[in-house]
Amino acid sequence: MRKSKALIFEMGRTGRQGYSLPSNDVPDKPLGELLPDKMQRSCDLGLPELSEVEIIRHFTELSTRNFGVDTGFYPLGSCTMKYNPKVNEEAAALPGFAFMHPCQPQQASQGALELLYNFEQGLKELTAMDRFTLQPAAGAHGELTGLMVIQAYHRHRGDHKRNKVLIPLSAHGTNPATVSMAGYEVVQVPCDDRGLVDLNALKEALDDTTAALMLTNPSTLGLFEEEIIPMARAVHEAGGLLYYDGANMNAIMGYTRPGDMGFDVVHLNIHKTLSTPHGGGGPGGGPVGVKERLIPFLPVPLVDKKNEEFYFDYDVPDSIGKVHAFYGNFGVAVKAYTYMRMMGAEGLKQASTDAVINANYLMSLLKKTFYLPYDRICKHEFVLSARPEKKKGAGAGDIAKALLDRGFHPPTVYFPLIVEEALMIEPTDTEAKETLDAFAAVMEMIAKDIDEDAEKVAHGPYNTVVGRLDEVRAARSPILRWEKES
Ligand SMILES: *Cc1c(COP(=O)(O)O)cnc(C)c1O
Repeated sequence: MRKSKALIFEMGRTGRQGYSLPSNDVPDKPLGELLPDKMQRSCDLGLPELSEVEIIRHFTELSTRNFGVDTGFYPLGSCTMKYNPKVNEEAAALPGFAFMHPCQPQQASQGALELLYNFEQGLKELTAMDRFTLQPAAGAHGELTGLMVIQAYHRHRGDHKRNKVLIPLSAHGTNPATVSMAGYEVVQVPCDDRGLVDLNALKEALDDTTAALMLTNPSTLGLFEEEIIPMARAVHEAGGLLYYDGANMNAIMGYTRPGDMGFDVVHLNIHKTLSTPHGGGGPGGGPVGVKERLIPFLPVPLVDKKNEEFYFDYDVPDSIGKVHAFYGNFGVAVKAYTYMRMMGAEGLKQASTDAVINANYLMSLLKKTFYLPYDRICKHEFVLSARPEKKKGAGAGDIAKALLDRGFHPPTVYFPLIVEEALMIEPTDTEAKETLDAFAAVMEMIAKDIDEDAEKVAHGPYNTVVGRLDEVRAARSPILRWEKES
């Protein structure tokens, strides 16, 4: 394995050059004439001086330390680290898209507008919603946009009492955070012993202060909420709306649709479901779709079409306003649309089929060795509990480090909170059987290592560029700047 190398600041040697500029053929003016004194540098910048090949090697080597879907298996549950087909990148790099200016007049942007319009039609079909905004830049951003739309709807009807949003115990952390951000109160709904939302508890929690129920289906346990229809009916009868967190949509594409289950608002994480890159926190995409009665509150502008001409529609009188500059992350929309068109309706359905088959196959292998608290057919992901291993001395976090040591990215750990020592595994649709077998074999090896010497596993990893980090110190007193040792 590669060992930690020198920092670029320590590699420089005075006088080395990476690039030579042509000699100056413009008469030199004294710097003082061009820049006032106070704007001139008073001391040397101290930048490292290196040759081109040294710089290239340094950054290329750094890039290989990054773990990505292009370098290995990445079963990060809930996050859906889906393969990003390269044709998406090619489409987004087409000069007509890549070099467009956001202020270009509408007549000169017809192709881009048409793409946004068609992308919206595809999303509507996929989810059974009536209109979409493509502005939100991520799932969490979509959640906030969606809740603001719900808030605007209730207020518009003069229904000011509704100040609570219900969330199941198995929900993703962004859900309660969004609820608070939107100024609502969180009400937690418990799950039953099957890991599903407890319908009776939900009914009891509903009243005339309920603004919405926020739910992902399948849940973060990878389980489909079978009682979604009676749940939706109960929420609507209480005057609330249903918000669908679409982060797990990749499990059900072409099989069922949130709009058909009774949801009123939906966000999709296109970096999860439609194969665009997560990109280290962005730029992403979290389009929000709504049913007819909520269209008047969507962000402006919407993309529309009149007499074969596409345009931005700002005429949405009750709109919550803009939620992103211009029209969201356009390049991401191009990638997701390309994926949709390359796959076609049947292809998207197949991707969901494969995601579910892969998850169930891997689950059947791993449950021979590990504890599976909710032992049922899963959707795209499943959650193991490393509680037994923890008792022996090495828990979920230690298993994650041991996986890094053997070349696999770990699954999501310690989430969802409903499972103690959770290991949340999502293999995605594109992985081969051999990869899943290899991962299961390594997990079994780790279990054996824990039986033999849990203490050793609890101090890993041993083969990575950096060993075990002091996570508390890294969070509390991070060192973010290089300083020369004197
Ligand atoms: C990822 C995720 C989110 C948040 O989406 P971001 O795009 O990361 O902001 C919300 N809910 C669930 C279930 C998720 O998996």
